[in-house]
Parts: sequence; C-alpha cells; structure tokens
Amino acid sequence: IERTLSIIKPDATRRNLTGAINKKFEDAGLRIVAQKRILLSEAQAGEFYAVHKERPFFGELVSFMASGPVVVQVLEGEGAISKNREVMGATNPSDAAPGTIRAEFAESVGENSVHGSDAPETAAEEIAFYFSGLELV
Ligand code: ATP
Ligand code: MG
Repeated sequence: IERTLSIIKPDATRRNLTGAINKKFEDAGLRIVAQKRILLSEAQAGEFYAVHKERPFFGELVSFMASGPVVVQVLEGEGAISKNREVMGATNPSDAAPGTIRAEFAESVGENSVHGSDAPETAAEEIAFYFSGLELV
C-alpha cells in the first residue's frame, strides 16, 4: 500500500480549511496516517523546495510557505500518490477540475492550498523530511 506526503499550506490553515480538505482526502479513500501542525522557517521551506531554487517564483514560494502554520501529513491508500494529485487538482486553480481541492479552495497559482508528492522516490524523501520512523505506524 502506497504513502504520500501532503501539506496543507498557510493560505488554507489561515482560512480554517484543514477539516474540509481532510474530508476530501478521506472521501477519496485516502487514510491520514500521520499529521502535525508546524511553522516552517524560510530556511526549512527553502530546503524542502530546493528543486525549485532556479525558478522565478522560488523566493515568493519560500516566504509564503513560512508565512504561517502548515499541516504536514502522510496519506495512505492504493495509488495514494496519483490519487492525492487527482483530489488536489491542477497547480493553477483556474485549470483545476471542478470538485478538486484547488478548484474549491485555492486563491492563486502560488497560494494553492495543498502540496502532494509527485513520485514514489520524492514521496519517501518528503515523508522522511517531516516525520521520524517513530511517528509512522
Ligand atoms: P506541489 O509541488 O506543491 O504539489 P505542483 O507539483 O502542482 O505543486 P510545482 O510546479 O511543483 O507544482 O510548483 C510547486 C509550487 O510552487 C506550487 O504548488 C505553487 O505553490 C508554487 N508555484 C508554481 N508555479 C508558480 C508560479 N508561476 N507563481 C507562483 N508560485 C508558483
Ligand atoms: Mg511539485
């Protein structure tokens, strides 16, 4: 059974949408097997998003991700990585399919409410970035 790393971003925690977003995950058959609310420093956000270092929006992304609490979580299910990305919808909310998290809740391409791992290797790395083995059962 597959696991993926999900982040409920600061725009969503600020608007008290954690429960509404978690309901979308659970309704899609994803199980929340670990979850915590944390405040990233800009250094930690930059380390997490290091693959985007050269992108023009990197500075904006890092300051946004450190602008308020995030909820980091591990979701489990059959095909959890792709299922989660389906439930999230396209990066830009104006391209996101109706009923997806980003279509319903995201404010812009940057402040788009959720992150989800994009492949098995990145899922394993991203889960280990936020959770220790003891926190995962
Ligand atoms: P994520 O990796 O967060 O699940 P994604 O894979 O849909 O989202 P990426 O292209 O990996 O999107 O971009 C990572 C994040 O960077 C996006 O979720 C968004 O918050 C931010 N981002 C992407 N493109 C832009 C942009 N043009 N302007 C501002 N921020 C952006
Ligand atoms: Mg991505």
